[in-house]
Amino acid sequence: MASRFQAPRGTFDVLPEQGRARARLERAAAEIFARAGYEPVATPAFEDTALFERGVGKSTDIVRKEMFTFEDKGERSLTLRPEGTAPICRAYLEHGMHKLAQPVKLSYLGPFFRHERPQAGRYRQFHQLGIECIGTDSPLADAEVIMLLSDLLGELGVPGVELRLGSLGSLESRRAYLEDLKAHLHAHEGELSRDVRERIDVNPLRAFDSDDEGTRAVMESAPTIVGQLDGEDAEHFAEVRALLDAAGIAYAVDPTLVRGLDYYTRTIFSFVCDALGAQSEIGGGGRYDGLIEQLGGPATPAVGFAAGIERILLALDEEAPAAGRDAFVAIADPGQRGRAMALAVELRHAGISVEVDLAGRGLKGQLKHANRIGAARVLILEADGSAQLRDMETGEQRAADPGNLVDEMTGGGS
Ligand code: AMP
Repeated sequence: MASRFQAPRGTFDVLPEQGRARARLERAAAEIFARAGYEPVATPAFEDTALFERGVGKSTDIVRKEMFTFEDKGERSLTLRPEGTAPICRAYLEHGMHKLAQPVKLSYLGPFFRHERPQAGRYRQFHQLGIECIGTDSPLADAEVIMLLSDLLGELGVPGVELRLGSLGSLESRRAYLEDLKAHLHAHEGELSRDVRERIDVNPLRAFDSDDEGTRAVMESAPTIVGQLDGEDAEHFAEVRALLDAAGIAYAVDPTLVRGLDYYTRTIFSFVCDALGAQSEIGGGGRYDGLIEQLGGPATPAVGFAAGIERILLALDEEAPAAGRDAFVAIADPGQRGRAMALAVELRHAGISVEVDLAGRGLKGQLKHANRIGAARVLILEADGSAQLRDMETGEQRAADPGNLVDEMTGGGS
């Protein structure tokens, strides 16, 4: 019977067939990040609203329109985190990580919340995994972060992935460039969409992301920052590219690439998968050399990425089949219940996947159930303390040594 309750708009339930694919993804990511020395951390699901206003930027869509903000009972304004980088930088400062050997390399995974219009690949609660490499401005760090996401998508087998790469320059050159861009937009004000026109002075970069035809035409002749990077920024960008070339990672330089968060400087990148349709970005990130200072810390360069777990799973479009079990412990007599549970625990400790009948079935029903869950072998515990071992594929059954049941199972003795 369906309940009258449903998951809220823009959210979803993860059912076992999807949960298995998700677990595989999370394991692959955890291994890849750990092998490169990125330590897993976690921050709360909500933070002071001001952290995002300051960190992500008041003029961004995220802060203007998409935050789930509420007051707690002490009338403090809190916000369900819309992204992970500002919270990690907050934690980095709060716990004095700037005093450790740099860079500090962190990874995370968890739910994020944005009040967006729901559609395929866009939800109000979604999950991201990501890494942050904090405390170095070396282009090697930019390249490593990009290579790790590339590696993860490659290992999972995500098809048709393209990497777009851009650079926004340092904070100063970005500032100078923004003045040029604003001048260009003001000169064409009449041709721009209302939304872009109203934000020329607060967030001119977003004009590159507009779907509006008039705006797009104006942007074709707009100055690009990649085209006017100065000395050190140009060198930094060239080195990131050379490192990616050396690693054999294909990319396209996209001078119109912008990201929806204010904190980016220098390198920005985006992995897209065309099979995904409108929401084609699987993951992206970049360098944010000004963010930690912006949050009140010492000037600290950093680079990272976030990837959408649901987007990766959509691109993979596969459901992992249910894994069978190594064994099932069947209880032929209720007096054997305690022994069965203890044996299951012991077998699990020995690395064997095993289930016990929890539903009070008769022996026949238990064998049927063992078959249904794909158990390879069944251990039948008899009333007199003896045991039988049944191979579910061949149907062969033999007596097992009741004193050595774990050995019987781990030694492959059937
Ligand atoms: P961002 O934090 O905006 O740079 O996004 C990083 C990644 O998170 C994107 O590339 C998407 O894969 C994913 N993502 C962002 N917003 C959503 C959303 N509303 N629903 C699902 N995935 C999202």
